[in-house]
Amino acid sequence: MADERTFVIVGASLTGAKAAETLRTEGFTGRIVLVGQESDLPYERPPLSKGYLMGKEPRENAYVHKAQWYPDNNVELVLGTRVTRLDPKAHTVTLDDVEPLRYDRLLLATGSRARRLDLPGSDNLGVRYLRTITESDAILSDLHEGANVVVLGAGWIGLEVAAAARTHGAPVHLVERGDLPLKRVLGTEVARIYANLHEARGVIFHSQSGIREFGGVGGRLSHVILADGSELPADLVVMGVGIAPATELAEAAGLQVDDGVVTDESLRTSDPDIFAAGDVASFVSPPLGQRIRVEHWANALNGGKSVAKSMLGQAMVYDWLPYFYSDQYEGTPSISMEYAGFVGPDGYDQVVFRGDTSIRADANPEFAAFWVRDGRVLAGMNANVPDVQEQIQALVRAGYSGRSVDLAKLADPDVPLADLVTPLPRS
Ligand SMILES: Cc1cc2nc3c(=O)[nH]c(=O)nc-3n(C[C@H](O)[C@H](O)[C@H](O)COP(=O)(O)OP(=O)(O)OC[C@H]3O[C@@H](n4cnc5c(N)ncnc54)[C@H](O)[C@@H]3O)c2cc1C
Repeated sequence: MADERTFVIVGASLTGAKAAETLRTEGFTGRIVLVGQESDLPYERPPLSKGYLMGKEPRENAYVHKAQWYPDNNVELVLGTRVTRLDPKAHTVTLDDVEPLRYDRLLLATGSRARRLDLPGSDNLGVRYLRTITESDAILSDLHEGANVVVLGAGWIGLEVAAAARTHGAPVHLVERGDLPLKRVLGTEVARIYANLHEARGVIFHSQSGIREFGGVGGRLSHVILADGSELPADLVVMGVGIAPATELAEAAGLQVDDGVVTDESLRTSDPDIFAAGDVASFVSPPLGQRIRVEHWANALNGGKSVAKSMLGQAMVYDWLPYFYSDQYEGTPSISMEYAGFVGPDGYDQVVFRGDTSIRADANPEFAAFWVRDGRVLAGMNANVPDVQEQIQALVRAGYSGRSVDLAKLADPDVPLADLVTPLPRS
């Protein structure tokens, strides 16, 4: 018998496209409508601040699927269209305030939006944000040797943009309100390594600072004025001041929202026919035993797959350990890193390093770092060391299930990480 159900996915990015793909591979034969506000085919965002922004990767590399995949798989792709209203009672969404569309099951994959600052002079041409491929295009068009670049915010996006700009030969000033880049995510010890990396690459770091206003000539950016009144020449400013989950549809529809759209372990929201995944979802993580919201690529990829199975009624628990990666610069010195785990608000006691963390012009640092509390590994990162992520994840999972490690062995590069995960004693 034909499946008469309609599954609607709001948000045509990585989460949404992976969910559509998984619905088909899991055998769903009903109608799938994938609605997205942007006009590009669903794409992945990491290249927008890396290979694509360096002008080294073509646009097509970012696409989740080629254009033909959607008709081939009978997925109705509705692009350039915003879902303006969700009515859980009537089981409808409204597209661009006009057309209602009935769903049997709905996925909210609306992701995040860049936070925007309303500073004097923000409307000058050359003040940019980076979330979409169109914004990456605009930044790329301003990046060239000698262009004066200012980046506000030394988080992941800010640092990757700084690295791409240096690769184009542009002088870069990095302005940050804290004292070190990435300190909020990685803590002081690893943040220092990133500060050294960017300094070695010629980035000028302005800590404990901010932008007070933008100045322009004829509507085109010419300089910025920092918090302390000093002035920097600027042809391009990239604002990397964080993102916020796109929860407005869910909120207006009366779904439970707390930072993100609240879901259970299977990514089902407070409405049984509505699911959420990716950046927008606040979910209970089984390995961590706590509620989290994750703004990273691997959560979009894995959450998209997992939520599709939940939508099909398969008893799915999203048993995924938070993971992300970042690549900054090519050649030496550069850092390609992966990170798994989660350091919550209680923080960590110490960071244990194994390997060489020094930043030198002629060689790359190669190390792992572990954030430890009470002898338990809460999170681990490998920098320029391939093929150890699986062992790091095993250590983190062991830590979250209450097992501690010998810290001396953790620091010893001669002891394989796999040997540190010991079986739980029999109860
Ligand atoms: C420049 C950049 C670089 C990144 N690099 C990395 C990296 O190196 N490593 C890493 O782990 N993560 C990285 N990330 C983060 C990662 O890309 C995100 O976590 C991921 O994109 C989240 O996917 P998503 O599908 O949940 O949401 P999004 O990618 O935000 O997509 C949501 C989509 O929904 C659409 N939408 C929203 N509301 C509506 C509506 N009402 N109607 C219709 N459509 C709507 C939006 O327009 C958007 O297209 C990066 C992000 C950026 C911006």
